[in-house]
Amino acid sequence: MGSLRIYPSFFASILILILICFHSSSCEDSGHEDFDYSEGPKGPHNWGDLKQAWRLCKTGTNQSPINISPHKVRKDDSLERLRTGYSPIHDPVLLSIDHDVALEFGADAGGITLNGTHYKLKEYHTHMPSEHVVNRRRFPLEIHLVHKTPDKNRIAVISVLYKHGRRDNILEQVLKMISSANKKGGSLDSSLNMTKMKISGKAYYRYSGSLTTPPCSEGVLWTVLREAHTLSQEQFRKFQTILTKNNSRFTQKINGREVLYRR
Ligand SMILES: [Zn+2]
Repeated sequence: MGSLRIYPSFFASILILILICFHSSSCEDSGHEDFDYSEGPKGPHNWGDLKQAWRLCKTGTNQSPINISPHKVRKDDSLERLRTGYSPIHDPVLLSIDHDVALEFGADAGGITLNGTHYKLKEYHTHMPSEHVVNRRRFPLEIHLVHKTPDKNRIAVISVLYKHGRRDNILEQVLKMISSANKKGGSLDSSLNMTKMKISGKAYYRYSGSLTTPPCSEGVLWTVLREAHTLSQEQFRKFQTILTKNNSRFTQKINGREVLYRR
């Protein structure tokens, strides 16, 4: 276990537990105790057998993550330019710091319009190492920005891959938030300036996939930014300290799906 841990008060613990249990559609579904990333019985190869509601993890044909082969993608000029309308987020809720670092946002986080549908930004969480790979190359970190339509029926995730390089401003804010939560006992009374997230106008890959954790629901609209962002060695080490275990699902079969590309 990592040396940097959250020790929330009893009531904060209950609150976080309730939020995890009722948090219905992101990668943090169903509680962390029910599955893991090991080679054992609760690991990714067995998720589909653990619960009937999770069978798609085994039988699904449009699953995520995938390996993206840039020479096989189809350039599609009809795909829209990415234009986020995020707001600075006040008082995000820390959902977990076990498999991943996951922050849930309230109604004021803004959103993005994709394929003519407006999605609200609901959650930010981490995977280490990356789940999506490009040309079989895995990245040290991947961030998922989970968006949902107001009726919560449709999910769109923006994936940002991180490679080693310069320090990242948003990651720095997240790390600071976590360390202050550690000291203050779980309360996240800081804000996160998502307007600084460099997504608008960027080239991206688009495909139809699934949640990458149980219940592995399909119909998720994936947008993977082509260009990786960077994180510093210091930031990498801090995340390594927090996320002591791998939380990446293995890549899934493409099964004839087309990956589109917008320059
Ligand atoms: Zn995820």
